[in-house]
Order: sequence, then C-alpha cells, then structure tokens
Amino acid sequence: MTHNVIDSMKKHLLINGTKVETNVYSELCSPYSGEKIAEIAMADEKDVEAAIVAAQQAFQTFSKLPAFERAQVLERAVELLKERADKAAYIIALESAKPIMFAKTEVSRTIETYKFAAEEAKRIHGETIPFDASPGGVGRVGYTVRKPIGVIGAITPFNFPMNLVAHKVGPAIASGNTIVLKPASQTPLSALFIAEVFQEAGLPNGVLNVVTGSGSVVGETIIRDDRVQMVTFTGSPSVGIGIRNKAGLKKTTLELGSNAAVIIDNGVDIGAILDRCITGAFSNQGQVCISLQRIYAHEKIYDELVGKMANAAKLLKIGNPLAPDTYISALISKKETDRAKSWIDEAAQNGAIVSVGGNIVQDILEPTILTNVDPRLNVSCQEVFAPIVIINKVASIEEAIGYVNDSRYGLQAGIYTNNIHHALLATDQLEVGAVLINDIPTFRVDQMPYGGVKESGTGREGIKYAMEEMTELKLIVWNQL
Ligand code: NAP
Repeated sequence: MTHNVIDSMKKHLLINGTKVETNVYSELCSPYSGEKIAEIAMADEKDVEAAIVAAQQAFQTFSKLPAFERAQVLERAVELLKERADKAAYIIALESAKPIMFAKTEVSRTIETYKFAAEEAKRIHGETIPFDASPGGVGRVGYTVRKPIGVIGAITPFNFPMNLVAHKVGPAIASGNTIVLKPASQTPLSALFIAEVFQEAGLPNGVLNVVTGSGSVVGETIIRDDRVQMVTFTGSPSVGIGIRNKAGLKKTTLELGSNAAVIIDNGVDIGAILDRCITGAFSNQGQVCISLQRIYAHEKIYDELVGKMANAAKLLKIGNPLAPDTYISALISKKETDRAKSWIDEAAQNGAIVSVGGNIVQDILEPTILTNVDPRLNVSCQEVFAPIVIINKVASIEEAIGYVNDSRYGLQAGIYTNNIHHALLATDQLEVGAVLINDIPTFRVDQMPYGGVKESGTGREGIKYAMEEMTELKLIVWNQL
C-alpha cells in the first residue's frame, strides 16, 4: 500500500515546476510503526535561493493574471483533490500518524479551504475615500486597491499538514502572490502531493515552490532573504517569536500555540456536551493548536463531568492510524511522547489526580484526564500538545474567567452556560482571539477569522483575512483640477 500511494520513494524539491535533486536525502519514517516511508531531499541555502528567485520571476507575470484565471486554477485543484481524497487522507495518516478518520476530515476541510480561496480571488477590492471630509481634501476623489506583495515564505507545522498548507497556498494564489513553501520535516509528503495537484491544475511554474529540509537551514534562509516580502508561519511559539525577531521589515503572520480552555457553568446538561469535550481533548491525540487542554467546571456539576469524561475516554480505541476505528495513535515522535508522560508524572507528584490514562501503551500515550491541577504545573500553563486534559473545580464564572486568562496564550476559549449574563461576561472578559458560546474552543471552519493574542500569535488567517495580510493597500487620489 505504501508504495502504491507514495508514488516514488525518493522525493525531490519542486522549484520552478521542476523536480530538483539535492546532495543529501533524509529518511522519513512512520511515527507509529517506525517503518521507512520515503527519502526526502534536504535543501541547502543555494536550493532555497533558487526557489526564491523562481518565485520572484514568476511574480512578474502571475501578479498580472486576471482574477478569474487565478480562480480557475484553484477550482481545478479542488476537482483534482476531490478525485484523490482517499489518497490524500492516506498520505496524512501515514506521515503524521493522524488516525485515518481525522485525516479524512482534514482532506474535506482542505477542499473547502481551496474552494473558499477560489471564491475570494474574485472579491478583492478596496473602498472609496471621502476626501472632502477634510478641508485639505476638497476637490479630490480617490479609492484604495489591494496589490499582491510578492514572494511569500510559508512555513508550516506537522499537525494539519495539508489544510494548514492550504491556508497559506490558497490565499497566496488567490491574491496573485508567489510562494516558497517549507513544510514540517515530518510531513513533507502532503505538501509535495498538493504541489503536484496544482501543477496538473495549470498553476504556472514558479508560483508554488516546495523546499523540504530542516527548519534551521531552509526556514532561516527564507526568513533572512530580502527578496521574500512576507513570512506566514504556523507552529510553536518559540520558533514564531524567533522568526519575528529576525524578519526585519517583512510582514509576518504568526499562528502559534495555546493551552485552550472551556468553562462549564452550573446547570449545563453534561450528557449533551460530552462528545464535544472528548473530541476537543483527544482528537488528533491532542495535537491541535486549539485542543481542549483545560476545563473549569462549576462545583455543582464537577463530579458528574469527571465521571462521564473518564468513562468516555476509556472507550477510545488506541492503535494503528490506518485502521478505520482508531481514535488515538502515536504522537509525532517518541521524544514528544516521553515529554508528555513526564509532565503527567510531574503533575501526579504535585497533587494532581490521574483520573484516567497516564500510561504509554505500545508506544502510544493513553488519553489522560487529570484533576485538581495546580495552575503552575506544565500540564496547565504550557501547551501540552498531547491527549491530556485537566479538569478543575470552580465556584463562580468570575473565578473561571480568571483561570482562563491566567495564561501566556490566547487563541480561543469556550463557555457552556444557560445564563446570558455569564455568556456576555465571558465575551467581554476572555483574552483570546475568539470566544465560543456553548462550544469548546476546538472549533474552526476555514472561512472564519482565526488567530490569537498574547503568545498565540499575530495576524489572522481564514481565506479572506489571510488575503488582507497578503496584500498591500494602495491609495489612488485624483485631483479634480
Ligand atoms: P514547530 O516545531 O515550531 O515547527 C513548525 C515549522 O517551523 C516546521 O516547518 C519547522 O521545521 C519550522 N522551523 C523549525 N525551526 C525553525 C527555524 N529556526 N526557523 C524557521 N523555521 C523553523 O511546530 P510543530 O511542532 O511542527 O507544530 C506544533 C505547533 O504548531 C504547536 O505549538 C501548535 O499549537 C502550533 N500550531 C498553531 C496553529 C495555529 O493556527 N495557531 C495551528 C497548528 C499548529 P522542521 O519541521 O524542519 O523543524
């Protein structure tokens, strides 16, 4: 199966529409089985430069392509992706150990993301300016237009390897920019697969270049090159902050991590929200930037919630990501599994109760629920990025809001409540990019504005919003002589 789907075991760079070999190749192995999947080209600085030059040259013509033609390329890519959806899901599951049921959802979302990009390509516009509102502006009329900015360096993480690439490639193509894409080292196949889809869809050579290799070589070269006009990054806060410090005057969009929380108020029907809480905490092994990591539950419904969550977590099937009923599989690496386990042990040694899970079984970390967790412990104040959720008891909504805000991060937060005043208080006071009323924070559809405050990042994605980031506002003023 592996060989049928990964058409060639040796994967090269894609620069200016051509497969480019490198001096060094690295083995890509399954995070689940350790089995070798492919050999991946490791680009050096010169390869990255070649990709940047190709993107710069392609921009000269691509930026002038009419909107309807850019939309057509995206529409054709959508059709090809629909035809190859099973193959796409298999690639995601193979290289990232994302259970196939979630990989299929990611492919469906990727298709939607490119569809939104095709639609938004036709809706790029500015506005007229009321110049005569100022005495100095009388006699002038004018308007803004949005111009593509040039070469965009896109650096993506492993956890949604196809859809997060789409959130950069889709709006970049829609707005007439060109791209140098550096996918995560563990998930290059999803990116190369998409690049092939776009070649078949008729995307001109040089518009999308894929440069695989290490973050420290490929990523750093992209960030430091003055011909790159913008860096759009999704990944960990530490790498993101480093990018911001090195990017100089380049535009940067940073979509970083979080320790997302939900508040569950007194009177909420636990049975009605249980499935959402389990999905939020454990889908993709908790490796989701808005994974439900912290639950603050009112003391009157706390025991019922912990009991029902524990029973539900015990039923989740652990195993091979390619099996259709697997819910939890391996984390992205053994190092990450050991790190997450050490945080559970640290919590247990410091007063937390392991309500369920907490062990590594056949190299897979069990879904884990911790209660009575001190907010200073790693499992609470850091991003766990593993199937771990903490549930703490609160006496009031004000207390819960205080705990949610006591965080370096601020991506999304949710509140379940039947009390409109509590809902309004949460919308006003939660320090996050999005507040979800009667839902977990683990909610995203691909057209919505998405991004965080604090160390969760700067800028917004969601096709229309990413296109605003990827275009420069230009003002045209006519003097009516
Ligand atoms: P990561 O380690 O920060 O890696 C992300 C990307 O940055 C990879 O392509 C990586 O390449 C590259 N990179 C590493 N060092 C670099 C450097 N010095 N300069 C430039 N690029 C460099 O993150 P990850 O482990 O793949 O992903 C998990 C993180 O992403 C979590 O924190 C999660 O919350 C966050 N995330 C955020 C969002 C959001 O929208 N807010 C969505 C998904 C994930 P290598 O793979 O070669 O190291």
